[in-house]
Amino acid sequence: MSVEQPDLFGIEPAMDKPAEPEKKPLRQETEPFLPGVRVEAAFPHVYKLEELAALAVNCQACRLRSTCQQVVFGEGDPDSKIMFIGEGPGQDEDIQGRPFVGRAGQLLNKILEAAEFSRPDVYIGNVVKCRPPGNRIPNPDEVQICRNYLEAQIRIIKPSIIVCLGAAACKAVIDPKAKISVIRGKWFMRQGIKIMATYHPAALLRTEAYKRPTWEDFKLIRDEYKGL
Ligand code: SF4
Repeated sequence: MSVEQPDLFGIEPAMDKPAEPEKKPLRQETEPFLPGVRVEAAFPHVYKLEELAALAVNCQACRLRSTCQQVVFGEGDPDSKIMFIGEGPGQDEDIQGRPFVGRAGQLLNKILEAAEFSRPDVYIGNVVKCRPPGNRIPNPDEVQICRNYLEAQIRIIKPSIIVCLGAAACKAVIDPKAKISVIRGKWFMRQGIKIMATYHPAALLRTEAYKRPTWEDFKLIRDEYKGL
């Protein structure tokens, strides 16, 4: 393991092939999935995504709600075995109320299609549900508050695979000290869920050189998903 590799919270790299996932339910609700989240703050009595979405729509727990047009909760199959997590809504997402619908979203659609995923069959969400002004990176306090919703989404959906798209998701889900350039393309296992980070589609639009490694990551993700 590289010396740059952060000391990951309770997860171990799966060096060769990840261990088989446990049967659902994957974990006790007394134990959070995301590092640093308190179970009691993550809506422990909510068991349905629609219920959670209704709470999120009315949420004003951080400053982001005062500048965005609407809450972008996430979308997809609530029983999906795979969950893709990005950073937060951009302008197009804020207008439409759906995740990954702008240029980056269109690129994600192409990647998903090339990797033989059907978008309606997967679940797509973000670390923060409200658009940060000017598409700035969400502040740590905003991420910390909104991760309660993400924790609850993961608890309800119970995916077998989580894909972190970009640095913000990588830090929010895997480890705050994680560097995406170091850990992308590697499988981690936590509470029976396989986790991989790869570059955010928006980064691919800016940096051509990220396209090849991202595609290599998606081939691994596709193969793992097909093997479930
Ligand atoms: S970003 Fe999350 S915590 Fe902040 S207001 Fe929106 S839903 Fe609530």
